[in-house]
This record gives sequence, structure tokens and C-alpha cells, in this order.
Amino acid sequence: MDFSISKEQEQVIKVVRDFCRKEVAPIIKEADRTQTMHPSILPRMAELGILGICIPEKYGGQGFDYVTLGLVSEELEYLDTSLRVIMSVHMGLNSLALLQWGTEEQKQKYLVPQAKGEKYAMFGLTEAGVGSDVSAMASTARREGDHYVLNGEKMWISLATKAHNILWVARTNPERSDPHEQLSAFIVETDWPGVTRGDLHGKLGVRAGSTGWVNCQDVIVPVENRLGEEGEGFKIAMSCLDNGRFTVGAGAVGLIRAALDASVRYAGLRKTFGKEIGKHQLVQQKIARMVRDYEYGHLMLLKVGWMKNQGIRNTRETSLLKWFATDASFEAANEAIQVHGAYGYSDEYDVERYLRNSRGAIIYEGTSEIHQLMQAGYALGYRTDGALRCELPAYDEEIWHS
Ligand SMILES: Cc1cc2nc3c(=O)[nH]c(=O)nc-3n(C[C@H](O)[C@H](O)[C@H](O)COP(=O)(O)OP(=O)(O)OC[C@H]3O[C@@H](n4cnc5c(N)ncnc54)[C@H](O)[C@@H]3O)c2cc1C
Repeated sequence: MDFSISKEQEQVIKVVRDFCRKEVAPIIKEADRTQTMHPSILPRMAELGILGICIPEKYGGQGFDYVTLGLVSEELEYLDTSLRVIMSVHMGLNSLALLQWGTEEQKQKYLVPQAKGEKYAMFGLTEAGVGSDVSAMASTARREGDHYVLNGEKMWISLATKAHNILWVARTNPERSDPHEQLSAFIVETDWPGVTRGDLHGKLGVRAGSTGWVNCQDVIVPVENRLGEEGEGFKIAMSCLDNGRFTVGAGAVGLIRAALDASVRYAGLRKTFGKEIGKHQLVQQKIARMVRDYEYGHLMLLKVGWMKNQGIRNTRETSLLKWFATDASFEAANEAIQVHGAYGYSDEYDVERYLRNSRGAIIYEGTSEIHQLMQAGYALGYRTDGALRCELPAYDEEIWHS
């Protein structure tokens, strides 16, 4: 395994860092305060190629590997979680699923414009009554000849009012005995008749992002918009989470680094008892923990990205990265506030936003409890998918650039 970052990856990181510092940093506090995603964000991310970063060039993307996807996610969340969430849903939960499961026609029609950033995409699994227990969902899709009739409402959906396409999971086969085989996945266009949506306000964090609801009432979905076979919806959704969780974990690593940098800066400026607070050992302890968690998280990012590049099944490792890094980012943000004292408790500094933003990632894409169940399940031998090949295509530089 190679830990080095290539020249090309360094260039990508620089582009993302410059975008964050020069274009997003000046507007982020206001966007957070007003709970609105700034209208320039998605178009600029599209222009910079971020929305298609690891999609092969022949499908409109930039042709980078999955490690680069992780590094970009880290860099985006270093500035604000709302930027990384875009990456998680548009790329992690949607576009990579089209690459993995889509027919050639579906790739041409949906993946190409998404990778070019001409269209934005989201992911609809959660409902008002169902989150962790996916197989209990209420959404239905009834087959009628050459189309399905879709009904249901998805809740807590990132990019709800921004995206053009949603990957929607619904129950198609209630007669099957295994509830996991009753679900199917569909590509639904948000301007189709019967689709309505809106934003949710009053969230604790990710306030500069869009989170909302999407309702489908008797929406006609052509059979050719079914992703995979009937009954593969649960499997597809779980594969989406393998990719989305990677970006969430990688992003959380960026948030730890942001908390660390802010704490180091402040610890060098603030003086108490005749010396800068960085000289007090209990402040050093907080900073040391942030260093440790950043390095561990970053190593896990590189390992999971490498596994994805090889096409090795990584559900266990991705879950571990996501669980560890999101918990650690919340802890780092909390400690960063402590380092800042009362100033950390006000929005004069960024660390209070880091704390609010880090909290959601302990809930979405599998709560920490679900990840602990998974890890225990693997350790105890109740889950055994670790050695299987990954369904996400292994990265091949020649193919990705052809
Ligand atoms: C900001 C944000 C953005 C989101 N974006 C999206 C999106 O784009 N698309 C999407 O589909 N969803 C999205 N979600 C929804 C998210 O994925 C769900 O909130 C998450 O899966 C948890 O489901 P829930 O909220 O219904 O909690 P529940 O499943 O109701 O769980 C409630 C509590 O019970 C615990 N629990 C549940 N089952 C068990 C168990 N077996 N053992 C132990 N404890 C258990 C949970 O850990 C949790 O603490 C988003 C959520 C947020 C906050």
C-alpha cells in the first residue's frame, strides 16, 4: 500500500482548498445563520469538476480514484460539513450507484450529466417512520405494464430542494417472505408529475446545506428507470451506504483537522497565568488527542480508499472509519470549544459551528449504535461479508481515463 499523495491529487486538493478558502469561507457564517445553501455552491463545485471527481472520463467525470474522493471529502469538510454532504449524496449515495448498478442507457442518461455537474442527485431511503430499520419502509411501487406507480414520502433528505434526480427505494414485492427482498430502487426525476418537496428548517447543524422532504403521489416511473432487478433495492441501498459512509468518515477526518488547527492557533495567542495556554499540559492533552484522532482517521481513509481501488469488499472497514471518525470529530469540536473558553461558545469563532455540524454525522448513514452492532457482528462471526469482492468497480487508471 502506498501512502503518498500523487502530484495530481495534490493539485486537486489545492483546487478544492482554494475554492473553500476564497469562495466559501467569506459566506459560510451568513449561510449557516440564515439556514440557506448559497446559490453559488453547487454550480461552482460543478465547474471545478468536484461533482464528478472519481467517475470515469467516458461518463463525464474527472477519472480520479477513490482515495482522491476521500481526500476531497476531507478537504471540503475542513471548511464546512454542508460542502461534504453534497459530495456524500450526489457522488457517494447516488452517482457511484449508477456506475455500479446502472445499465449503459441509465449511465448515459443520468450519470453523465451528474458527473459533469449539469444535474444534481440525492438519495431517498429514510421516511418519517423509518430510518435504521430500512426493510420496514412504507413507500410502494406498483408495477403496471411498462411502468411503476410510486407512492410515499422520504424525510431528512439532503439536497431535497436542489437535486434533479433521486434514487428512491420502495417496496415492490410484499409477497416475498424475506422483507429485504421486497424492495427495489428507482431513478426518479424531481420534475415529474406527482413529485413535491420542501426544505426542513431548525436543524442543529449543517445549516448551510439543504435537508428536506420529498413526496411522490402516483408518480409514473418507466420500467427502464428501475436500478438493478426487482428485489435488489435493499442490496443496492447498502452498497450506496458503503460509498456514502466513506465520504462521511473522510469528511469527519477533515473536521478533526479543522478543530485541531483552530485550537493550535488559539492556544498560541491566548495567555493565562503569565503564559500562552498551549503551555498548560491539560490544553496540550486536548490537542494531542486531536492529533491522534486525525492521524488514525486519515490512515483509515487511505486504507478504505485503497480497498475500494482494488475492488475489495470494504463494508466492515468503511463502517469502522465512519463510526470512529464521526465520534472523534464531535469530541474534537467539543474540546476545541473548551480550548477557546467563552469565545468558543460564540459564533465569533468557527468551533461552535464545528460542534453543531459534527453531531448529525453520528446519526446519518448509520447511527453509531448501528455501526457498533455491525462491528460486534463481524467480530463475533454473525456477519461474514469481509472477504467478498466489492461490487463497486475496481479503479483502473487506463479505463477511467479512456
Ligand atoms: C442532516 C441529516 C441528513 C440526512 N440525509 C439523508 C439523506 O440524504 N437520505 C436519507 O435517506 N436519509 C438521510 N438522513 C436520515 C438518516 O439516515 C437517519 O436519520 C438515520 O438512518 C437514523 O434513522 P432515524 O433518524 O429514523 O432513527 P431511528 O432508526 O428511529 O433510531 C432512533 C434511535 O434508536 C437507535 N436504534 C435503532 N435501532 C437500533 C438497534 N437495533 N439497536 C440499538 N439501537 C438502535 C438508533 O441508533 C437511534 O439512537 C439524514 C439525517 C440527517 C440528520
